[in-house]
Amino acid sequence: MWQLAQRSKELWHGLADREGPWEAVEWQRTGSLLLASNSEEAGKLEAQAECLKAAGVQAEMISASAVAKLEPSLSIPAEGGGMLVENDAQINGRNSAFLLLNICRVLAQDAGGEFDCKFGEGVTGLEMDGDGGVVGVTTSAGRRITATRAVVIAGGAWSSDFLAQQLKDNRWKGVIAPRMGQLLALTPPTDMPALTRGVMEMSYSKHYQEVGRKSAEGSPADESAPDITFTATTSASGELLLGSSRQFSGFESSAGLETTAAILKRAAEFMPSLSASAAAVSTLLAGGSPEEWSDGLVRTGPRPWAATGLPFVGPIPGHPRLYIAAGHEGSGLTLAPVTAEIIEGYISNGGTNVAGAEALAPEFLLK
Ligand SMILES: Cc1cc2nc3c(=O)[nH]c(=O)nc-3n(C[C@H](O)[C@H](O)[C@H](O)COP(=O)(O)OP(=O)(O)OC[C@H]3O[C@@H](n4cnc5c(N)ncnc54)[C@H](O)[C@@H]3O)c2cc1C
Repeated sequence: MWQLAQRSKELWHGLADREGPWEAVEWQRTGSLLLASNSEEAGKLEAQAECLKAAGVQAEMISASAVAKLEPSLSIPAEGGGMLVENDAQINGRNSAFLLLNICRVLAQDAGGEFDCKFGEGVTGLEMDGDGGVVGVTTSAGRRITATRAVVIAGGAWSSDFLAQQLKDNRWKGVIAPRMGQLLALTPPTDMPALTRGVMEMSYSKHYQEVGRKSAEGSPADESAPDITFTATTSASGELLLGSSRQFSGFESSAGLETTAAILKRAAEFMPSLSASAAAVSTLLAGGSPEEWSDGLVRTGPRPWAATGLPFVGPIPGHPRLYIAAGHEGSGLTLAPVTAEIIEGYISNGGTNVAGAEALAPEFLLK
């Protein structure tokens, strides 16, 4: 995945540079810090830094006191440490999505065509010829759209059940599922030193190693209580963005205020200036108050979790002209451009030469 993430970063860089001002996507070369809270984690992080260096990423292990010097808002135990990746960058997801839409419009115009984006009109069915090849789709508005070259299923957490139903192929059932997540956006406390890097606790990386977290019934393993891992960064407009939760609760986030309280409590363990905010929301929760948290905004969304631990990107075997690009869990924004590059290769050239892409092919992942 590192190879793919690196390629995607290059592509994001090119897109933001060529198609619009960097401010449009709020590109910030903030660098990142992965935090270890004890000596065991620090040892593992050191090994991880060595692996990254071997893969060509500039990563450096630093002590807990060096972490505090770089980011005075953070406090971690002396036996912990941090892995610093100075070249990491961040973008604003929403703005970047609009940039991509605009690029699609411009590319279509340049080719003498038209880019038609139908918000609020869902695809309800796939139309196939006698050989299982896809020839079009039907929509909730009762339209039939002919596909002359390809249909790409990029419906996030909805993708695999849609395919199971349309292709009558149970191998797709439940292989991509919603994993709800909450992120908080708030004004940083006035006494908090500015946070300049993207930071996250080391255990965050476990979410990328959870291959096969499925029960015998084929649904994701129980995670009814939200799993909280600390992440923090400052947006270009100065908001403090705190994350995040992960929960298998269908498409509903079952514990709104509880999750908000848990995110703030965990964040305050790393950023003591947040203690008052964490205490305030806990008091609100303990009082059984119907009031919502009003010190910031809560953003919630379904991460498309894939049972394989890797997103599905490539042609769907047995169905010419049908492709999937879904299941990116918490990396869909990062991997969006490389995903498009892989799919474009399959559609235009019948294959991909993006290094590492073969591992994401449904033919390989569904075995
Ligand atoms: C709290 C949180 C923090 C995150 N942070 C990061 C981060 O820092 N970096 C990162 O890279 N990623 C992050 N992610 C993950 C990222 O948001 C996802 O990986 C990404 O949105 C997946 O993109 P997608 O297009 O595959 O799916 P989605 O964004 O879910 O989009 C799928 C779309 O398909 C539509 N759809 C579904 N069915 C149909 C149908 N039948 N017809 C038409 N349309 C349909 C849906 O309405 C939806 O709009 C985060 C997610 C959360 C929840």
